[in-house]
Amino acid sequence: MFHYRKTFKTYNSFPKATTCAFCEDDLAGRSIEITEHAYLMPNRVFYDLWEQREVIDHLLIVPKQHVASLSQLDSDAKLQIMEIMAEYESRGYNVYARAVGSKQRTVASHQHTHLIKTKPQQANAVLAMQKPYILVKF
Ligand SMILES: [Zn+2]
Repeated sequence: MFHYRKTFKTYNSFPKATTCAFCEDDLAGRSIEITEHAYLMPNRVFYDLWEQREVIDHLLIVPKQHVASLSQLDSDAKLQIMEIMAEYESRGYNVYARAVGSKQRTVASHQHTHLIKTKPQQANAVLAMQKPYILVKF
């Protein structure tokens, strides 16, 4: 995962949720698909790079139920979310979710799965430094 400096500032400018960023947000209003158990929506700020490729689409699957892990969902909800993952994986999206307890997980208490589509060609070389992210592409 990588944000350019500009998109990192945008990402960081959103107000911090007091409880859960997903439960406090109007996910239905942002969704491109709503199922019985989940929302499918564009991420507010796309990653700029994923596996050294430029990101061209970045979606999130967010369970309607506030759970930290997919394991806490019932079988119907798990199946429905898996069906969304399978559909988008077949369309060329990478499927990614951070582990419970991961320090990289920004909405820590509410499970969510990233669907990330990238350009096929890899950047020739990428030099990246940690915050504030500086990227030099060759
Ligand atoms: Zn929540």
